[in-house]
Amino acid sequence: MKPMAYLSVGLVMLALAGFNSQGRNGKEPVPSSGQMAVESGMRANDAIAPLVASSEPALPLPLRVALQAGHWKAAEAPDELSGLRYNGGTSAGGKQEWEVNLKISELTASLLEKAGYEVEILPATVPQRYEADVFVAIHADGNNDSSISGYRVGAPRRDATGRAGEFAEMLAQTYGEATGIRRLPVATRRMRGYYAFRYNRYRHAIHPMTVGVIIETGFLTSDVDRKVIVGDPARSAQGIFEGITRFLGPPIMEASESD
Ligand SMILES: [Zn+2]
Repeated sequence: MKPMAYLSVGLVMLALAGFNSQGRNGKEPVPSSGQMAVESGMRANDAIAPLVASSEPALPLPLRVALQAGHWKAAEAPDELSGLRYNGGTSAGGKQEWEVNLKISELTASLLEKAGYEVEILPATVPQRYEADVFVAIHADGNNDSSISGYRVGAPRRDATGRAGEFAEMLAQTYGEATGIRRLPVATRRMRGYYAFRYNRYRHAIHPMTVGVIIETGFLTSDVDRKVIVGDPARSAQGIFEGITRFLGPPIMEASESD
């Protein structure tokens, strides 16, 4: 299909989905009206905004950031991702990977909320066709060789937004500046094919128009990296926060001027 045809179909599916599956861990009520769905669609992709902005003026809504704490609640994965249930990630220094990922996610969320963004922390299972302005999967690496150190950031191999690569690069820069951890420049195949990006294969994945990236924050098995990601996770959070805000800009999107 041509890109615009594809986008239109995506928008219709978005509206049909109604976002009822978009849980927020019970923290706040979830608007699930069609209008909300349309507005979310507009924010997710400026290119289609003119198609849907004519009836009512858009409300200025905060940009939405999703932080996924890798492996968190992995045992609750749905059948289509049952392999996740047995993938607890790495562990070292008395820490399971999910604990480290969750702590960094929470600290990052608090920085973003203070700055005015709307934030949701997600477990290993992503709600179906999950919609946000950006999605960041947070993980830590592991290796039998404790001298191996470094962080990496990856964008999806299949990226309908066309913007994930740019976001990944910004995040890689700010993360390195904030943490001093060595950058490993190449994202692995597994990162680029991360399950939560594979909307063409799994229902529990991000929406094609959600800009997604994955960060391996450092090696939990490295004494050097662990000093930051476990010993001083606020630095990791600061680096992720800066990458997200640099990419998104101010937290409140301007109201549409189209009518
Ligand atoms: Zn992991």
